Amino acid sequence: MDFALSPELLALQETVRRLAQEKIKPRAREIDTSSLYPQDIFDALRDADLLGLCIPEQYGGSGGGIMALTLAIEEVTKYSNVIGLMLLLTRLPTGPIMIAGSEEQKLRYLPSIANGTKRAAFGLSEPGAGSDVAGMRTRATPDPDVKDGWILNGTKCWISGVSQADWFTVFAKTGDPSSRLHDSITGFIVDADSPGVKRPRVDKKMGVHGIDTGEIVFDDVKVSPTNVIGDVGGFRLAMLGLNAMRPIVAARGIGLAEGALMYATEYVKNRPAFGKTIAEFQGIQWEIAKMATEIEAARLLTYRAAWLADQGKYTKEYVPMLSMAKYYASEVGVKASGLAVQLLGAAGYMEEHPTELYYRDARQLTIVEGTSQVQLGLIGKGVLGHDMWWD
Ligand SMILES: Cc1cc2nc3c(=O)[nH]c(=O)nc-3n(C[C@H](O)[C@H](O)[C@H](O)COP(=O)(O)OP(=O)(O)OC[C@H]3O[C@@H](n4cnc5c(N)ncnc54)[C@H](O)[C@@H]3O)c2cc1C
Repeated sequence: MDFALSPELLALQETVRRLAQEKIKPRAREIDTSSLYPQDIFDALRDADLLGLCIPEQYGGSGGGIMALTLAIEEVTKYSNVIGLMLLLTRLPTGPIMIAGSEEQKLRYLPSIANGTKRAAFGLSEPGAGSDVAGMRTRATPDPDVKDGWILNGTKCWISGVSQADWFTVFAKTGDPSSRLHDSITGFIVDADSPGVKRPRVDKKMGVHGIDTGEIVFDDVKVSPTNVIGDVGGFRLAMLGLNAMRPIVAARGIGLAEGALMYATEYVKNRPAFGKTIAEFQGIQWEIAKMATEIEAARLLTYRAAWLADQGKYTKEYVPMLSMAKYYASEVGVKASGLAVQLLGAAGYMEEHPTELYYRDARQLTIVEGTSQVQLGLIGKGVLGHDMWWD
């Protein structure tokens, strides 16, 4: 067993840490206040070759894999959960293509993500179907004018990166619309400028300002047969893309928790009270110690999950381990940001400090890409079915 990162991963970690401290940390508050897309940071990530971390070299990426992307997201999210999301969006919509897509799709859609000339988003959730994916209403029906072509109708909501996306990975019912079977659902690549694609609104949200979430409406959108991801009814395979995403979302949780705890720790060392500093009280030290322990536990779960995913181990039997990373790290992100606000007292509640921003930004992490309750359901199922067992 070796807990050390390879020299390449250590070098990447160092590079991203420096970029985060120099370019992201000074911009985080302003991005939140203006809610404007931080194109300058996107350009900096592109120039540092970080947009293709998880894309294989033959498709223009650096082939660093999920572990590399996990480390990079951890570093940037110490200062901005928005930039963590920006990096995450290089994998979320491309994952199903990398796992189940055709060679032609990989060549057409992956290199431009890696070199930053195109952006993509992922459309799974609907107003009436979030956790309950099988309840989706978006339908794809055969195109009478094109052999094996499809026509999409429906609405997707809360889609991250909706405004900047050049194309979407979208899921729709191709089978019986009332069916709850996964083989009634198919993944499609839809170019954002296809006739009938509309983006009518973006959400007013609590945090992670700067990258919009919003609605996509598909109104008789024609999709060519070459844009079907994998087989018709191949949703199960595409879902594996989500399993492999767990460490990447978890990385946002640990990075945010580390950033919040570091900030609060420095503050209490300098805050005088009762003739000493706040940091000198044992009650405060124990809170910091407990949080640091939870962060390290979440970090180990996350790194193991990334290591598994890079070996292609994201099928059913690995789900509990992957879900534990997402569940625990996102909960730790919320908890650490709450503690940071508390450790600063009133100052922590005010915009002069980043703690209230960490707190608002953390909150989405236990909801997105499978809520904490959904992850607990998957872990519970895994233990009951002995996918995770200890003898
Ligand atoms: C900021 C943000 C960005 C997002 N980005 C994207 C995106 O890019 N693409 C995309 O497709 N979606 C995106 N989403 C949507 C997200 O994936 C969904 O919000 C999530 O899957 C939960 O669905 P829901 O909100 O409909 O909650 P619901 O499914 O309505 O759940 C409501 C509550 O009930 C609980 N619950 C549901 N089912 C169960 C159960 N079986 N057992 C116990 N408890 C249960 C949930 O845990 C939750 O607490 C985003 C959401 C947010 C907030």
